[in-house]
Amino acid sequence: MNLKFVAVLLFLVVVLGVMFIYLKPIYRFREGLCDSSEGRLKYPQPSITHGRTDVVSVTPWLAPVVWEGTFYPVLLDSIYQKRNITVAATVFAVGKYIRFLKDFLETAEQHFFVGFRVKVYVFTDQPNEVPKVKMAAGRELVVRSVPNSKRWQEISARRMEIIQTLIEETLKNDVDYIFCLDVDSKFHSRWGTESLGELVAVIHPGYYKDDRSKFPYERRPASRAYVAPGEGDFYYCGGAFGGVLAEVHQLAQTCRKNFEDDAKEGIEAAWQEESHLNRYMWLNKPSKVLSPEYLWQDFKARNSEVRVIRFSGVIKNYNEIRPN
Ligand code: UDP
Ligand code: MN
Repeated sequence: MNLKFVAVLLFLVVVLGVMFIYLKPIYRFREGLCDSSEGRLKYPQPSITHGRTDVVSVTPWLAPVVWEGTFYPVLLDSIYQKRNITVAATVFAVGKYIRFLKDFLETAEQHFFVGFRVKVYVFTDQPNEVPKVKMAAGRELVVRSVPNSKRWQEISARRMEIIQTLIEETLKNDVDYIFCLDVDSKFHSRWGTESLGELVAVIHPGYYKDDRSKFPYERRPASRAYVAPGEGDFYYCGGAFGGVLAEVHQLAQTCRKNFEDDAKEGIEAAWQEESHLNRYMWLNKPSKVLSPEYLWQDFKARNSEVRVIRFSGVIKNYNEIRPN
């Protein structure tokens, strides 16, 4: 036999062997390992010396920061299945933003709390234009009418008020968790039980490597969204937040009041309710922090620490879709 051929064959065997040894644990980790022979789950021993070392996975106040590779989906799902939870999602599609709704809803069916009871609340000024998306068993779409506004800042700001009222009037008794999400985005990968917590915030993908002095917090002390120099933990997204009903109610009520009191004095915070949310999260630390995997932006190249993009804002032409 040709010596070269044997050498190539040997090389291939070694490469495949290394790949098998290296990739198998990763695969097992991602999928979780399910062995229900005695009704118990089996999964790899929790690691103490390995895991993600390229990202921070816990905050200084000991809240988890959720990154791919820091949790076992199957294990988490089994814990929450037993609790028989219901998760609500709110999404606003007012004016031209109705065009984003179909993709949002369809991809939510594929990735958002699959296998759990989910109620998606759509708030729109065009209820007849809401696409008919087939929902799986146990999942429900609820459409509510809201008026349009002349200014996009108002549409965006009124969300807090509507979320507050929804929690008070409708959700109180039959929902456990709520997530409030921007419509101009799509799901690409799992967003599930790993994201659950009392108060949940998502780190903004645009600033997570920056010093806090660069965060676009509201910097005028006259505003109720003010964050002083040297203050602030992360810069969080206005486009996704959540938690248990009581916590999200408190957040929505506070942000709404601060926004309105600012408005009475002729002040509008730099990034409207996102600024108020950031101030709120600084004073009331989130119990779970989601990495930028949970709200990436399609125009941004993916950074190496981001192994999975779960939810991402689509590219849009602001001049074309915003009323003013
Ligand atoms: N929105 C809407 N109609 C508008 C403006 C905003 O329905 O005319 C809602 C929509 O859910 C959107 C959210 O408010 O996702 C926040 O606005 P936008 O996404 O434009 O803010 P950005 O993510 O660009 O900061
Ligand atoms: Mn958005």
